[in-house]
Amino acid sequence: MDDSSSPDCLFCKIVKGIIPSNFIYEDDTVVAFPDISPVAPVHFLIIPKQHFVSIMDVPVELIGLVHQATRDIVHQEGLATRGFRLVNNCGSDGGQVVQHVHWHLLAGRKLTWPPG
Ligand code: AMP
Ligand code: ZN
Repeated sequence: MDDSSSPDCLFCKIVKGIIPSNFIYEDDTVVAFPDISPVAPVHFLIIPKQHFVSIMDVPVELIGLVHQATRDIVHQEGLATRGFRLVNNCGSDGGQVVQHVHWHLLAGRKLTWPPG
């Protein structure tokens, strides 16, 4: 059995349904679900099903699939017109808390720049 999940990983548990979440999107390689502590009116997390710690570990081909899924989600959620922000926190200085690569999709209000 091909199981690349990491037993103690929170997001692997969400992928497997061990920790409950409401997927707003799912395909063969990617899932997306609401962030439990939203920082914007729209705040989803987009993750590969397969466990990779950070963007530095993700195969380049998979990035394309995540990108394609992200565009589908943007259209599905009606975010294309007003726009959105896509954020990847990497490592400790980047503010990464969950060690399973993910992208924050933020929208629904005017987002400030630069971030803190
Ligand atoms: P990061 O700081 O980039 O690693 O972001 C991790 C994100 O995961 C944070 O925004 C958390 O609010 C979010 N998070 C933690 N636990 C859960 C959960 N069970 N379901 C959904 N989002 C979560
Ligand atoms: Zn994981």
